[in-house]
Amino acid sequence: MSHNRKPAGTRLTGRIVVPGNPSYHAARLEYNRRFSKFPRVIVFCRRTQDVINAVKWARERGVRIRVRSGRHSYEGFSTIDGGIIIDVSEMNKVQVDRKNMVAHVQTGNPLSRVYRKLWNKHVALPAGTAPDVGIAGLTLGGGIGLLSRKYGLTCDNLKQVKMVVAAGRQGAKTIIANKKKHADLLWASRGGGGGNFGIATAYTFRVRPIRTVSIYSITWKWRDLEKVFPAWQRWAPAVTNRLTSTIEVAAKQVGTIVSTGQLLGGAAELRRWIQPLLQQGTPMKVMVRTVPFIEATRFFAAGDLHLEPKFKITGALGFKPLPREGVRMIRDFLSEAPNKHSTVWCQSLGGSGSAVSRISPTATAYPHRRAEIYELSARWRNDSEQQRNIQWVKRFRKALRPFVNGDYVNFPDLQIKNWPKAYYGVNFARLKRVKQKYDPHDVFRFAQSIPVGKRSGRGTRT
Ligand SMILES: Cc1cc2nc3c(=O)[nH]c(=O)nc-3n(C[C@H](O)[C@H](O)[C@H](O)COP(=O)(O)OP(=O)(O)OC[C@H]3O[C@@H](n4cnc5c(N)ncnc54)[C@H](O)[C@@H]3O)c2cc1C
Repeated sequence: MSHNRKPAGTRLTGRIVVPGNPSYHAARLEYNRRFSKFPRVIVFCRRTQDVINAVKWARERGVRIRVRSGRHSYEGFSTIDGGIIIDVSEMNKVQVDRKNMVAHVQTGNPLSRVYRKLWNKHVALPAGTAPDVGIAGLTLGGGIGLLSRKYGLTCDNLKQVKMVVAAGRQGAKTIIANKKKHADLLWASRGGGGGNFGIATAYTFRVRPIRTVSIYSITWKWRDLEKVFPAWQRWAPAVTNRLTSTIEVAAKQVGTIVSTGQLLGGAAELRRWIQPLLQQGTPMKVMVRTVPFIEATRFFAAGDLHLEPKFKITGALGFKPLPREGVRMIRDFLSEAPNKHSTVWCQSLGGSGSAVSRISPTATAYPHRRAEIYELSARWRNDSEQQRNIQWVKRFRKALRPFVNGDYVNFPDLQIKNWPKAYYGVNFARLKRVKQKYDPHDVFRFAQSIPVGKRSGRGTRT
């Protein structure tokens, strides 16, 4: 009998999918089909203990880890060739405590399920629009949506997080971070980005009462761009904080500009608020309605359905309205877009009494409190179109650089070299200290994860 035999080690638990298994193909795919990786194993965890076992299993064997919930990472950060994906999507309980106005939400929930479960108790959480985005990644990076100006980012409403972190040389343990215990980890979980410190398994959020809201949509033709875009930029931050809005300019081939928004208030009031927008150019279609809040979430979700399967998106922060040259740049790039699926989108976050900008840039890890967020996107189906689309986004970002800077960590872009500054600004040094404390062995790492030790983080990591 050999005396050198190693102990059997930790076993994986939960629903385990490996290559050859009939569900492996579906289980490995990311939402962004630009990425097609082949993990060694995918573990769909059902309990926190499954998460702990998976981390231990991987550490004992030196297998690289990726953490996954809704699979919506723009740059495929939740998948890996040859490693283990620890997926929490089957941990999806939601419990509302209406007396204390909090909700306990397991991190495997997609947004549509969170909205629905909360709606059953007539409460809401400010969050994003796409129905299948995971609450896990959305919250850790910030979380913007149509309630933001009144109720803040999703992460601003995060009161507690339960997280599995690495422990010792090969272990893992669960910790609870709130304002009394591990307050530094709670701070980092409010905008510090997904996948950096450990695996979040449950969140506790503050929630707000909700019944009906009013929504609008205005469509213009492209020729009104130079009137409508600057007018929206002046208007959106100046209106009541009960109104959050977006604007999207489509490629010239489509030839439309659409602004949508949501008011915590009635349709007659909303009609009054949007007057300055209606006076710009010649609106082709106007819709204003009062609806139950859950219906409004479905209305905004519709814009994120049936999109092309592969994409390259970059984000940018506008601390000032785009000057005329900036708007012209949008026109020029969308005039020569690679196909009709390219867009520029912007969401209002700041301005008069906005709950987002009232918070200090260092109070949470999300620093861009006074910026509006832009998104430049290109989408396609066939691989032969890929390079052209990616190059277009790259050139577009560069051309807009005089007018915007930085990026929202939930819209990550591997082409940004100085991403620590772009995503985290003044908060990067503190995030590195939190990383050093909770993940000193850099167990949770990916191309743009917060580095351990003296490394600056610039450039791409492996
Ligand atoms: C169509 C579409 C619409 C979007 N709309 C919005 C919007 O309205 N508002 C907005 O703010 N953002 C929006 N986003 C961006 C979205 O917030 C990010 O893509 C977010 O990271 C997705 O989280 P996920 O859990 O779905 O993705 P995943 O790919 O599963 O994870 C994203 C990142 O978080 C990490 N992560 C996942 N689960 C955990 C966990 N349990 N613990 C720790 N880390 C974890 C991953 O490792 C990865 O780094 C949208 C994205 C898409 C593709």
